[in-house]
Amino acid sequence: MVVYLKGIIVVDLVNDFISGKFGSPQAEETTNRASRFLHELNNRFPVVFTMDSHFPNDPEFQVWGEHCLQGTWGSELHESLAGIDGFRVSKRHYDSFYDSDLDGILRMLNITDLYVFGISTDICVEHTVAGAFFRNLRVTVIEDLCATIDPALHKQSISAMERNYGTRTVESSLAKEELS
Ligand code: ZN
Repeated sequence: MVVYLKGIIVVDLVNDFISGKFGSPQAEETTNRASRFLHELNNRFPVVFTMDSHFPNDPEFQVWGEHCLQGTWGSELHESLAGIDGFRVSKRHYDSFYDSDLDGILRMLNITDLYVFGISTDICVEHTVAGAFFRNLRVTVIEDLCATIDPALHKQSISAMERNYGTRTVESSLAKEELS
């Protein structure tokens, strides 16, 4: 019998995506919900925070402009999450797996069953889910803990992940039961 161990991947809940450069009221609301969700879990399963963190002149800045510069406030985890135990993984690309420590951490812990959420649904969450799919990991997306600027793009992305990567989509209330 294959045993799947669960882990929680929190994508880019860093200041520049919440209240900094790309901040928005939806992002703040979603982060507050995510913070409550994580505080209410009982640490049964590991949490990994993946955090956008760029060197100066990163080629990604040609698309988005400068954001999440390494060593600045913009790239720090939001203060509502600061007290939560978990791995902190720096990432430089939309896909949290690409050129980061995420894969190694998951293999070290034998985690193959991911619960993923964060910001933005259609960019870093979706690319991270693709990275998980290409590594044969199972993914549940917690929809109400994801956000993007345009709610229509959020919905499209949730269904694209189901269609292309076979993700299961749940609300945080169900995820809480499954992770407690
Ligand atoms: Zn970035």
